[in-house]
Amino acid sequence: MLPGTIVRNIKSKGLVANLPIKLEDKNGKPLQGALFLIGKGSDSSIALKSNSDGVITIRLTRELLTQNPIIVISKEGLLAKDISYEVGGKTMKFVDGESVEAEVIQFDNLRFIDKEGLRVYYVINEEAAERYTDSFNYALNFIKEITGKGQLNPVTPVLTGKQDISIMGEPEGTAILPVDITDWQDKYWFYIHESVENDLINTKNVYSTNPNLRWIGDGLAEFVSLKFLTHKGGGYKEKMLENRLASLGKFPEEELNLYEWKTGDTRIAGYSFSLAFWLKMEKQHGLKGIQLFIKQFSDLKTYDIASIEQIYLLSFGKKFNAEDLVISQKEATEIFGRP
Ligand SMILES: [Zn+2]
Repeated sequence: MLPGTIVRNIKSKGLVANLPIKLEDKNGKPLQGALFLIGKGSDSSIALKSNSDGVITIRLTRELLTQNPIIVISKEGLLAKDISYEVGGKTMKFVDGESVEAEVIQFDNLRFIDKEGLRVYYVINEEAAERYTDSFNYALNFIKEITGKGQLNPVTPVLTGKQDISIMGEPEGTAILPVDITDWQDKYWFYIHESVENDLINTKNVYSTNPNLRWIGDGLAEFVSLKFLTHKGGGYKEKMLENRLASLGKFPEEELNLYEWKTGDTRIAGYSFSLAFWLKMEKQHGLKGIQLFIKQFSDLKTYDIASIEQIYLLSFGKKFNAEDLVISQKEATEIFGRP
């Protein structure tokens, strides 16, 4: 009933999230002043009243979720079947384990700019939004150049300033990414990463059929991000590598088998190892080899390991060996250009 990924993350990482929930009656009108009760019994219940937009914000903790609480919505004169609710916070941002207090915005109320087939939503001033739309289009063309793809399914940016926002009511199939325009990582790194991964993985639901393919999704997303930051100059490439080296340094093992780095695995160093893997592949087979792999990967109908082995052979001219996915700390560090 609550978004599965958020619940899993809260439980496994002990995060705390303020999750907005919008209540509506059967006519789609906000349900104001409804009572929202959470808990096992009347003693432990948390009672919240919906505001004039029909929104309540529930504070989710590991303790609360492991209790598997019962949720009751009550409003005089209304039956349960007359009430619908929508859970927001898909775009929730966590800082130090807590979700950032965010303004809740209805998707329909967002302003946007359409340019060259890209729609950019914004809660900043229009002039700046115009400028950023050009730079996002520039970035997307760069991704196409590196990946060799003519068509992309990027994520849809929502440009924000300092204000963090949580969006409700986005249509199915729209992958929204809030981008803080004051943050270089949001603009030049995470947007590229998420767009590449969305294109390769999410559009075809790859992880749900094979959760072991993060070395491809996250790995290539990191690889293209590094290319973009290198192209951008200004020390961004160095900052990214420093960041990736730092997570390597915190990794307790000698090596990582990337095929075991599955979805839900919280080991951040997986990003570093998978980036190192693709940098190595580029050195051995050139960007052309990687582009060939991306092309065939995008054309695949099934994502079982046999299919991957096949396109690996066709792209790189050598048989896939499970050992290829084992990268050591030492090797990754060397690949990043530091002794
Ligand atoms: Zn990713």
